[in-house]
Amino acid sequence: MAGLKIENITKRFGETDVLKGVSLDIADGEFLSLVGPSGCGKSTLLRIIAGLEEQSSGEIYIGGAPVAGRRAADRNLSMVFQSYALYPHLSVAENIAVPLKMRRLSPLQRLPVLGRFMPGMRHQAAEIGTEITHAAKMLEIAHLLDRKPGQLSGGQRQRVALGRALVRDPTAFLLDEPLSNLDAKLRVQTRAEIAQLHRRLEATFIYVTHDQVEAMTMSDRIAVMMGGRILQCAAPDVVYDDPDTIEVAEFIGSPK
Ligand code: ADP
Ligand code: MG
Repeated sequence: MAGLKIENITKRFGETDVLKGVSLDIADGEFLSLVGPSGCGKSTLLRIIAGLEEQSSGEIYIGGAPVAGRRAADRNLSMVFQSYALYPHLSVAENIAVPLKMRRLSPLQRLPVLGRFMPGMRHQAAEIGTEITHAAKMLEIAHLLDRKPGQLSGGQRQRVALGRALVRDPTAFLLDEPLSNLDAKLRVQTRAEIAQLHRRLEATFIYVTHDQVEAMTMSDRIAVMMGGRILQCAAPDVVYDDPDTIEVAEFIGSPK
């Protein structure tokens, strides 16, 4: 069985149950939006899938294999954050190269002091350069490769973050409200570009947003989350026309 399977995930922070048993089956290549009000647990779920946070119980399977204990870097997923999370002291090209360099190095080589003296690093440079150029062209930031993040607009920074996610060639992209820091016009444009990227790459996308309109226009399916549970997961028109609960109807804005 391929795809991404999320099975009965719970998460407790102190006394609070933030995720109360979340299950989802996501097919390879699917674009799934995860929507719900602020604080319902969307980011927590995404971070658990990415391996950046540990669940209290439940399991995640990628391509049929449980990922318990597998570190974030070994799950072959790319996460894009709302805040972009770029390294301010590195150029655009160097920011995009970070996952490529990490992937090619053994844990010992990842130590910066040792890495400089390790053999074999020089011929990797050309190959890394090709991958960066390819990603930068796809995202139309090839002319910005020498700049630092501080010299870029919000929309350009978001493209760099997408570029960095892209070069890992991940099984799935996990995007956590990637457009929320952009102005309205740029959001519409970037939304269309993310949809196009999905079609070109044929990778799985999990797209977190609190914007139901965004989700309606982009997704194969929408999962509506509230209070740490998924209330409904279905195609946009089904969620809209035939909401399972009153809460789903109200959130999505279905006609009464
Ligand atoms: P969303 O992304 O849907 O806005 P989050 O997943 O960020 O929601 O947060 C869900 C709930 O979990 C919130 O009530 C939040 O305060 C709480 N929470 C998130 N991270 C932590 C943490 N590290 N420690 C304690 N509570 C947390
Ligand atoms: Mg969030």
